[in-house]
Order: sequence, then C-alpha cells, then structure tokens
Amino acid sequence: MKDSPLCKACSKPFTACRFNAHHQVHCKRPSCVRRRKQKRQREWHNRRYQSDEDFRGKKQNISREYMRERRRKEKAAAVVALQAEACAISPLDILTGVVSQLTGEDDPQLVLERLRTYSVRGRQLSHRVAVSGLSP
Ligand SMILES: [Zn+2]
Repeated sequence: MKDSPLCKACSKPFTACRFNAHHQVHCKRPSCVRRRKQKRQREWHNRRYQSDEDFRGKKQNISREYMRERRRKEKAAAVVALQAEACAISPLDILTGVVSQLTGEDDPQLVLERLRTYSVRGRQLSHRVAVSGLSP
C-alpha cells in the first residue's frame, strides 16, 4: 500500500478520494477547504481584474464609494466625540475661570463674590432691557 499523500495546505497526511486520487492534493479539513477556496477565488478575481476593463472599473467604483462612506463616517464620529467633549465642560466652570483670569483673583470666595455681583448686575440689565425694549 502506498503512503498517504500530504496535503499542500496543512502538510498532514490524508486519504484521497478513490475517484479523484490522481489529482487531489488537499485534504478535506474545513480550514484547508476554506483556504483552497479563497485562493481559487483570489486567483479568479485577479485574472479578471487584469483582463476585463469593465470589471476593473466596477470594482474601483465600489472601492471608491466604500472609502468615501468610510471617511464620512469617521468624520461624523469625530464630530460627535468633539461635541461630547464640549458638553462635558461646565459653563459655570468656564465663567468662573474667565472671571478669575480677568480679575487676577485666585481665592474661590472672592471669585464667588464677583460672580454674585455680576449675576445681580446681569439680572438688573436684562430687566431694564425687557422693560424698555431691545435698545439700551
Ligand atoms: Zn490540509
């Protein structure tokens, strides 16, 4: 009896089909079948891509559309991330920081006192604007 042939994909011995033994070089393991099918499809695709101009044009259009859509999605995701980051910043913290920067004060109590003063002033101004109309 002859030795079992070795699979070209996994190099393991296999029992060839008795009707197909003269040109069977791969075993029937699912990973080898899948690998062989991928290779066959890749070779068919490459041959057709090289020889058929219409096929090549269609594939290039599909690729171009895919990349356009992918870039659009990445850009949208970046905008959403930026908006989420911006929403995480408290307006009160920003105002406190601006007041502290403009007045040069580092004491939180003094900054809070300034904020209260500005709040009262802002309320009075908005009341005046509401009563007398839009022009100051
Ligand atoms: Zn194999």
